[in-house]
Amino acid sequence: MTDSSIDQLKLWDSEHVWHAFTQMANYEPLVIDSASGCVLTDIQGNTYIDAVSSLWCNVHGHQHPVINAAIRQQLDQVAHVTSLGMSNPTTIQLAKRLVDITPENLNHLFFSGDGSSSVEVAMKMAFQYWQQKSEPRPNKTQYVALGSAYHGDTLGSVSVGGVQRFHEMFKPLLFDVLRLDSPDTYRLPDGVTTAQDATQFYLNQLESLLQQHHSTIAAMIIEPVVQGAAGMIMQPPGYLAGVRQLTQKHDVLLIADEVAVGFGRTGAMFACNHEDIQPDLMCLAKGLTGGYITMAATLATTEIWKAFLGDSSRTFYHGHTYSGNPLAAAAALANLDIFETEQTMVNVRERTKQLADLLKPLTDHHHVGDVRQRGLIVAIELVADKDNKTSFENIGASGSAVCKAALEQGVWLRPLRDTIVIMPPLSISESEITKIVTVVEQAICGVLDG
Ligand code: PLP
Repeated sequence: MTDSSIDQLKLWDSEHVWHAFTQMANYEPLVIDSASGCVLTDIQGNTYIDAVSSLWCNVHGHQHPVINAAIRQQLDQVAHVTSLGMSNPTTIQLAKRLVDITPENLNHLFFSGDGSSSVEVAMKMAFQYWQQKSEPRPNKTQYVALGSAYHGDTLGSVSVGGVQRFHEMFKPLLFDVLRLDSPDTYRLPDGVTTAQDATQFYLNQLESLLQQHHSTIAAMIIEPVVQGAAGMIMQPPGYLAGVRQLTQKHDVLLIADEVAVGFGRTGAMFACNHEDIQPDLMCLAKGLTGGYITMAATLATTEIWKAFLGDSSRTFYHGHTYSGNPLAAAAALANLDIFETEQTMVNVRERTKQLADLLKPLTDHHHVGDVRQRGLIVAIELVADKDNKTSFENIGASGSAVCKAALEQGVWLRPLRDTIVIMPPLSISESEITKIVTVVEQAICGVLDG
């Protein structure tokens, strides 16, 4: 590409493309021309390791030949078939495969287009379920959600979201939600000193809320095990199992939003597997197609499904034009095949351990408050004062500066404020992990020790 066409593209990008979650006043174009495996190449020929899986969705690397071939083969059959009263073999096969690998009680699956929509679907299903189940409970219309939760950007998912800087602006448009503390293990509640005590503290909080409000609550929604956009906040052991037990006891549906944590990221195929829980509804997206084509799914129990059977008034009146798209379904099936043929979870275990070992020295750095990890999700939280766990005054500046320095050394990262996230494709190699950690370490020292 010539210098003038590069300049032209960058100009058009800045002027015409309104980027997601990006302040366009100081956007610096980074234009990726191609990618292979875990490496991205920009239009100037610079290469970067994709250390955040194209925003937490790539699974087996870019341009995987099996996924590419599956999409091409499907293209020669049919590119799109509507989900409104119609189906196609590829999407049917995918539904069956997903039902087989997700928790046993989830037997019915509704396709949509992205993670936010899959959450919207789960919330509407939960609401409608209580209105028309065999013994209706029409007062059950509220939702419980965690502090700092992130479930997407549609208005329903924003309502259950709790990230102030994203959601505060839209408050007049949102419905009220019963909010719990985020079950954080770095900043523990007053008087709590261990993770075990934290589990009990947060569960007590949930129990008293449910005792008081269960008759009006339709569902609780949770990002199981790791709250992603909140800053990769990791829940204490036993919390998820306790949430399932308490919601069941108080007749409240549990929605597991596995959009970010599903498909192997946390070291298990689904985060719910860690504590062997069965939610009533489960949301999947991001890694579903290996990070290739947009697609999402909401899985539901037979108990919920049955409440929608009968005359037309019981129908779930919700749907998106491209729901269940066969090209995406073909990519998703290939994605699941590769988990088996390449023994992906073996690599996840090995790279998880390698990452943990390599990151140990970083915990001594005077501005590294916490290094937390669950599988191939790592958060390095930078703080101004390590003893008091206080954030920097200019929130986000250090995180951005560290990621900018890493980019110059060939590693692409995207921070969550001052938390550096490492969340590579599950196929990441040993040498790539070594390079990522070396570069991150150098970037942190370069920015914060100066
Ligand atoms: N839920 C969770 C837990 C997420 O992390 C995200 C996106 O990051 C979403 C939902 C929304 O997904 P999408 O961006 O595909 O709409």
